[in-house]
Amino acid sequence: MSNSPFNPPVRTLMGPGPSDVHPRILEAMSRPTIGHLDPKFIEMMDDIKTRLQYAFQTKNAMTMPISAPGSAGMESCFVNLVEPGDKVIVCQNGVFGGRMKENVIRCGATPVMVEDEWGRAVDPDKLRDALKANPDARVVAFVHAETSTGAQSDAETLCRIAREHDCLTIVDAVTSLGGTPVKVDDWGIDAIYSGTQKCLSCAPGLSPVSFSQRALDFVSSRNHPVQSWFLDLNLVMGYWGEGAKRAYHHTAPVNALYGLHEALVMLQEEGLENAWARHRLHHNALKAGLEAMGLSFVVPEDERLPQLNAVTIPEGVDDATVRGRLLNDFNLEIGAGLGALASKVWRIGLMGNACNRRNVLFCLAALESVLSDLKAPIERGVAIDAAMGQYTD
Ligand SMILES: *Cc1c(COP(=O)(O)O)cnc(C)c1O
Repeated sequence: MSNSPFNPPVRTLMGPGPSDVHPRILEAMSRPTIGHLDPKFIEMMDDIKTRLQYAFQTKNAMTMPISAPGSAGMESCFVNLVEPGDKVIVCQNGVFGGRMKENVIRCGATPVMVEDEWGRAVDPDKLRDALKANPDARVVAFVHAETSTGAQSDAETLCRIAREHDCLTIVDAVTSLGGTPVKVDDWGIDAIYSGTQKCLSCAPGLSPVSFSQRALDFVSSRNHPVQSWFLDLNLVMGYWGEGAKRAYHHTAPVNALYGLHEALVMLQEEGLENAWARHRLHHNALKAGLEAMGLSFVVPEDERLPQLNAVTIPEGVDDATVRGRLLNDFNLEIGAGLGALASKVWRIGLMGNACNRRNVLFCLAALESVLSDLKAPIERGVAIDAAMGQYTD
């Protein structure tokens, strides 16, 4: 074993997350660690909660980061809102809906699956039919932004349908928060979770969540204790809760929270609407370039996420070879396909701080260079112009 420190290479992260972390956030994370019950730290926790309410567009008091990655945010929603014996409708159109199903089963509940093709949005009519066929369902869960395919579902409509049937909603907004509109109060979402490493451009490891009063009323009237001690909201609230004297629950990841705080300050400086518009603008440029090159998108245009671009790998081109050369020769990371789409698509992320013009042009040039070298059937010399065309009005 050598004593040399680990020096990671400087990459450009244009995969499904983590995305490039802004230097301001890295700098914030290197500030001195203080006690997690220090009055100054508690002030910052309160500030994070307020700023997360802005990011989620909610007045929910129970809005805070779970001290673990997005998957733990997912689990916190399920273990608190689902009881043994419950029936839960899970809409699945990609990998992450499958994880929701797994969570339901592990809660001792029964999942009713509403399946849509991978690469398509969740079909609201199918949800309506499932609710009619299962009037005893208590919860509806779906993924707003399916990172495995790049499809965006109509969260507002799906939540409205769920409410008409008196169901609580659990929404995965890991990839949507900060990149496309997420409106917790307007849409009537009961439980939502996100992640720090996608469109918030923060380091991985935290999961912002928010719970409505209806959700909290359910949690406090459960028949069975929440099976997870760490994620039991009744206990987490003692630490993150309003006004109450903070009680030790776990040691908060102090420096990671400095990073999230800085990310949220930056989000407010830019403004949510501007952040959404930026993701849209650079997506349009990347799309113009990729299509000019001859690559085609997996998801129909009106169901597409701007921050996650899934394109079909051209005939005869080896997935791993291309991604390997992008990484080794250009320090550029793009994502592989997941699950049913493995080795069939690339997933090019334009998330948070990685979503900028320089990266769009860099990615197009690098991809064109590698594909040309491999004699792939693409149009050469047109992608950059096509992308630039989107930047001039
Ligand atoms: C990334 C992601 C997750 C999981 O987040 P982790 O931080 O990797 O645990 C969950 N859902 C979606 C839609 C994601 O994109």
